[in-house]
Amino acid sequence: MIDAPRHSAEARMAGPRSLLSSQVQYLKGVGPRRAERFAQIRVETGRDLLFLLPHRYEDATTVDPIAGLAPGDDATVIGTVISKGVIPTRRKLRVFRAVLRDDSGLIECAWPGQPWLDRSIAKGDLVLVSGPVRFFHGRQIQPREHTVLSRGGSPGDDRGVEAGRVFPVYPATEGLTHRQVRTIVEENLEALIGEIEGHEVLPAAWREAHGLPSLDAALRTLHQPTRVADVEPARRRLAFEELFFLQLLHARARARVRSESGGRAFRSEPTLTATLLETLPFELTAAQRRVWGEIRADMEAEAPMNRLLQGDVGSGKTVIAALAMLRAVECGAQAVLMAPTELLAEQHARTLSDLLEPTKTGPVLLTGSVTGKARQYALQRIESGEARVVVGTHAVIQAGVRFSCLGLAVIDEQHRFGVEQRRKLREMGGGTDALVMSATPIPRSLALVLYGDLDVSVVDEMPPGRRPVITGVRGPDSREAAFEFLREQLGEGRQGYVVYPLVEESEVLEARAATAMFERLRERYAEFEVGLLHGRMSAGDKEAMMRRFLEGTVHLLVATTVIEVGIDVPNASIMLIEDAERFGLAQLHQLRGRVGRGAEQSYCVAFRASEAPSERLSAFAATTDGFRLAEEDLRLRGQGDLFGREQHGAALLRFADLERDRDLLEDARRRARELVDIDPELARPEHRRLGRELEERHAGREELYLVG
Ligand code: ADP
Ligand code: MG
Repeated sequence: MIDAPRHSAEARMAGPRSLLSSQVQYLKGVGPRRAERFAQIRVETGRDLLFLLPHRYEDATTVDPIAGLAPGDDATVIGTVISKGVIPTRRKLRVFRAVLRDDSGLIECAWPGQPWLDRSIAKGDLVLVSGPVRFFHGRQIQPREHTVLSRGGSPGDDRGVEAGRVFPVYPATEGLTHRQVRTIVEENLEALIGEIEGHEVLPAAWREAHGLPSLDAALRTLHQPTRVADVEPARRRLAFEELFFLQLLHARARARVRSESGGRAFRSEPTLTATLLETLPFELTAAQRRVWGEIRADMEAEAPMNRLLQGDVGSGKTVIAALAMLRAVECGAQAVLMAPTELLAEQHARTLSDLLEPTKTGPVLLTGSVTGKARQYALQRIESGEARVVVGTHAVIQAGVRFSCLGLAVIDEQHRFGVEQRRKLREMGGGTDALVMSATPIPRSLALVLYGDLDVSVVDEMPPGRRPVITGVRGPDSREAAFEFLREQLGEGRQGYVVYPLVEESEVLEARAATAMFERLRERYAEFEVGLLHGRMSAGDKEAMMRRFLEGTVHLLVATTVIEVGIDVPNASIMLIEDAERFGLAQLHQLRGRVGRGAEQSYCVAFRASEAPSERLSAFAATTDGFRLAEEDLRLRGQGDLFGREQHGAALLRFADLERDRDLLEDARRRARELVDIDPELARPEHRRLGRELEERHAGREELYLVG
């Protein structure tokens, strides 16, 4: 049979790659109207259609014969609708009801409260239902799920054709059912796959190492599996390819930074670093030693360092930063540490001046509050090179401060490290070594995807002798007791926080809620000084309030999440978190990091709105290990949600699953780096196709999630 030439002249003129690259409207069975609908599910071209994966499958290979079903079973059945209708019941509940027949018998299905199904399920349709079998005037299934597999036909006819198949269920949208999508895919699949064969980019050896099929085989399986078990290797095949290209982009970005001129090799004899290590009142933890080794090696190398240093709050990153700065200084360069707020900069300056005391390299502080003569003096010492270690806000490198020989920039991002920060970092350029500290643990897999162009060091061990914050989760019934406990703590001279939850999208509402809470608590704890901190306050007011809390003149701070990017108040030993369910695990953990910084035992109480247990809050109470919580967060929320909070959205990974595909991710990264090491521009003949494919996939997307 010859296909009706529904492809337009334009599509044919597009040349040999016409189907993959042509607009979806020119594919068989589509047309302009449906093309609009396809656009809703982000299918614009033939290639998009080919890579549009079913989001689930109905497995008709393991259906139960109707005759054998008994009440109590959980059934999956395929049958033809032989009668149907909506029946009103006494309780005004309208029930849609259909009788299904397969080769073995009949059974009734009932959908209480879903009368509209009468319009989407027709007599003669072949449907798959799954759900529990109960006894109600005979056997009855109340389907959890149902899928219309095919339309019409005379009852019973399709059964033989369709049985034993696995049905893909595609994303659908208004005016485009998953069945229509399936039919359209079926009609175009062979032609599309015929074209994709030439696009295979993964060498057979790589695939075989993971037991993965070729590209065309994988796509065929995903659209028309014969067994459900074949689907996962096929998905992983696409995931591997996706991860590999992403890592290739990262590897190339990394190579570009490393090839920047002006990188300095810090190789002098250790003098200042040796002094610091000798005078520290403690031994470095094994994790700190490992990370320090990684950083030292980076600094010794010619190529500029571009490293992310991750570690939970209190894991001892500051000492590492101090060592790195001294390493630059003992090799004749200057080092700068930048913090996100003035208060944090001041705090770093204090900590560093203690730590660096024995090395006589006390830091010079430069923030917006350093003005007049003091500022002139600081600027002059920085420019002359007399100031070896400089601490400030980000403004230090933006305000045109001139360094005589800047060798290392340490950037303290209490917050999650964002794209914007990375851009600034790159702009500094000029071969300066860069070390970014982040106190937000994220799973390694996520770090590789988001920051794959950076090298990552992880301080995954706490200094010995820490007392973990005792964390409890309380329902409404135990609120009073918690507030009384707070009073006791305050009475013992401690300080505390009550954190008011975020009000989605509205800082105004959030501030209003926190203010109301503040008024109540001020009355309740009349004998103490209660302060208020929220996002609607001016930067100056916020800072002034934080300062009063730090100095201890405010005992209890009622705050919104603005304290997340906070400050060390060692005397703060208790935190109550209202409506804790509204926070993500990572955020809860960040908040909790504000207590437990002193010698006293600290406490955190998460209030939940109901007595019902919450898996997330239980996880929160069960551990204070930020990396474990980050993994748990990934498991509970899924990567889509995690990405959703990043600037680049969920588009980053379509096929890969950060949990299931860790092995592929690591391998993809290794291979991408190896490849870029030997052929950075992918210019060799054997890599050209890879280069073209990379361009095709990521043209214009690079900006989205990579810096420059
Ligand atoms: P971070 O910056 O990662 O939040 P800090 O560097 O501020 O953590 O360290 C928290 C506290 O732990 C500091 O008081 C620091 O002196 C102390 N500390 C750091 N490393 C060690 C160690 N190896 N043994 C004991 N205490 C340590
Ligand atoms: Mg710190």
